[in-house]
Amino acid sequence: MNLIILAPPGAGKGTQAEMLSKHFNIPTISTGAMLRHNIDEGTELGEIAKKFIDDGKFVPDDVMIKMVKERLRQPDCKNGFILDGFPRNINQAETLTASKLKIDAVLTLDVSDEEIIRRVSGRLECSECGTAFHKEYRKPAVEGVCDNCGGTIKTRKDDKPETVKERLNTYHAITEPLKKYFEERGLLKTVVGREGIEDTSREVLRVLGE
Ligand code: AMP
Repeated sequence: MNLIILAPPGAGKGTQAEMLSKHFNIPTISTGAMLRHNIDEGTELGEIAKKFIDDGKFVPDDVMIKMVKERLRQPDCKNGFILDGFPRNINQAETLTASKLKIDAVLTLDVSDEEIIRRVSGRLECSECGTAFHKEYRKPAVEGVCDNCGGTIKTRKDDKPETVKERLNTYHAITEPLKKYFEERGLLKTVVGREGIEDTSREVLRVLGE
């Protein structure tokens, strides 16, 4: 199962990707988490990405395409993968379409901007493995410690309200047109994001025919 998740920041993409990863036993390739990990580790890629991310801007396509191609070549992607955060614009989508990879479905989560701004304010993330948590909706068992890997849980620097608004504007202008792009290719599956994580997960599995 080769899947793409396409949704605005804060719609629950990371959480649903994690559920699907367990369900299908395939890895999630979260470009945002990969970039943040590189920033934390102080790699060359992290240096390049940092100034774009902190401003809520996109990291250049050539950097992203190289990073994703290398990741998808890893043996754990042989039986499928979930792309979370890529493609983010038409150029990235066309690069993917031009590659030999067959995409089975593109899942989109619809959540209103108001709801996103409300949710993002409580968002947390493991700085090691990228697992998503939330101060209200998804608390870790031990405060500040990741349930998954024991890593440190932090708020994201790009989750400040001004930056979130900027990222939402970018999403509507540049990423949302990808819905039409994939709909025309018969791949789009839409789920209206619910309040509860489990309700959304059930709906996600239903639209994927599971
Ligand atoms: P995310 O965690 O998916 O919200 O990504 C956080 C930030 O990483 C974005 O606001 C971008 O600056 C950058 N980023 C992640 N994926 C991409 C991509 N496919 N193309 C360009 N920039 C990206």
